[in-house]
Amino acid sequence: MSRVLVVNTGSSSIKYQLFEMDGPKTLASGLVERIGEAGAKLTHRAGDAEPLVVEERVADHSEGFERVFSAFETAGGPITELAGIGHRVVHGGDRLTEPTLIDDEAVAAIADQAPLAPLHNPSNLLGIRIAMASFPDTPQVAVFDTAFHQTMPPRAYRYALPAELARDLRIRRYGFHGTSHAYVARKAAEHLGRPAAEVNLITLHLGNGASAAAVQGGRCIDTSMGLTPLEGLVMGTRSGDLDPAVVFYLHREAGLSVDDIDDLLNKRSGMLGLAGANDMREVARLVGDGDEAAAEALDVYCYRIRKYVGAYAAALGRLDALIFTAGIGENNDAVRAGVCQGLEGLGIRLDARRNKGRSAKPRTISADDSQVAVLVVPTNEELEIAQQTLAVVTGQARPASLEAAEP
Ligand code: ADP
Repeated sequence: MSRVLVVNTGSSSIKYQLFEMDGPKTLASGLVERIGEAGAKLTHRAGDAEPLVVEERVADHSEGFERVFSAFETAGGPITELAGIGHRVVHGGDRLTEPTLIDDEAVAAIADQAPLAPLHNPSNLLGIRIAMASFPDTPQVAVFDTAFHQTMPPRAYRYALPAELARDLRIRRYGFHGTSHAYVARKAAEHLGRPAAEVNLITLHLGNGASAAAVQGGRCIDTSMGLTPLEGLVMGTRSGDLDPAVVFYLHREAGLSVDDIDDLLNKRSGMLGLAGANDMREVARLVGDGDEAAAEALDVYCYRIRKYVGAYAAALGRLDALIFTAGIGENNDAVRAGVCQGLEGLGIRLDARRNKGRSAKPRTISADDSQVAVLVVPTNEELEIAQQTLAVVTGQARPASLEAAEP
């Protein structure tokens, strides 16, 4: 019994991956997209075989899960020998701070956080309920995107709002992408050959969503996303930081409703708003074609990250390594160069040739004389969820901070 199924249930999608934990190795993975919409599609990969693709309407999530189970029957064999099922849950609030074995109480607690993540937690819960009904004898574990950041001190997580109001409504910085920040922070310490408890890192998760975290001795002390994933860095379609008064101004001057502004800042801003394209490969193509708006957008993108690096270097007091991860962080050398540009004063010096290299493994891209190591560490949130799930079901739960996890 050493297999773990990892499930990430979104509002119109189900992503999954089956791991053999001795190794560890991926046995199968896949995605059901556009559930309840036109153009639904299942893509299932098992071993080295050609992917199985089924393009058929999927009415709801229950039907989506049935498709997934029958895909396993067709390619790769039924799901057996499961030690546990790990569910990605976006918001754990300030109560769910560790990977949690799912029982009725945990389900109620996850439901309690729904107002903080109305687009995510209800779908995550739906996936949990369906998986519990399909595998009633298999332990199920919830792994929270927010958990790693729960070690932040109040000075980092509090907003300067009336204290009682913030407390009653639970308005504070929570942070997201925690599974990824935790995974790459641990991998970076391994790559540096030093105990996680001894190194100070800034981790930059740059994907469609993007966030930075300051990790001191294995504990997160600050992160750029806030109450929701809207705060912080410039993202594919999210604005990141702006003057909150922009919201009132948009309402008063442009007559936009709260929902319009929510949609504008989350789905139509960021690189899409600045450059007309949210995918960084497309932005790079536009820059190559001499598009000035795209070049300026890229400058805004990198400058925002650079400001956070400076801020987190100050928060940490001493910086040992800067870590790039996720789609853009792992693959876009121009962004990495743009972020590190002018940071020599902080001891950050890239090696241009190393920066252009590629590898599926963690690697150093800083110059030999750089005081701060700059690393590219491929993230693997699914594997991190699988490992945390196994740790919970075998009674060896890993604490949220990496420090206490050191042997
Ligand atoms: P998500 O947040 O959806 O998981 P990813 O981590 O896959 O997103 O990141 C998506 C971003 O990464 C896109 O902007 C895309 O352009 C960029 N990206 C992904 N793969 C590559 C690649 N091979 N080369 C350059 N950019 C890439």
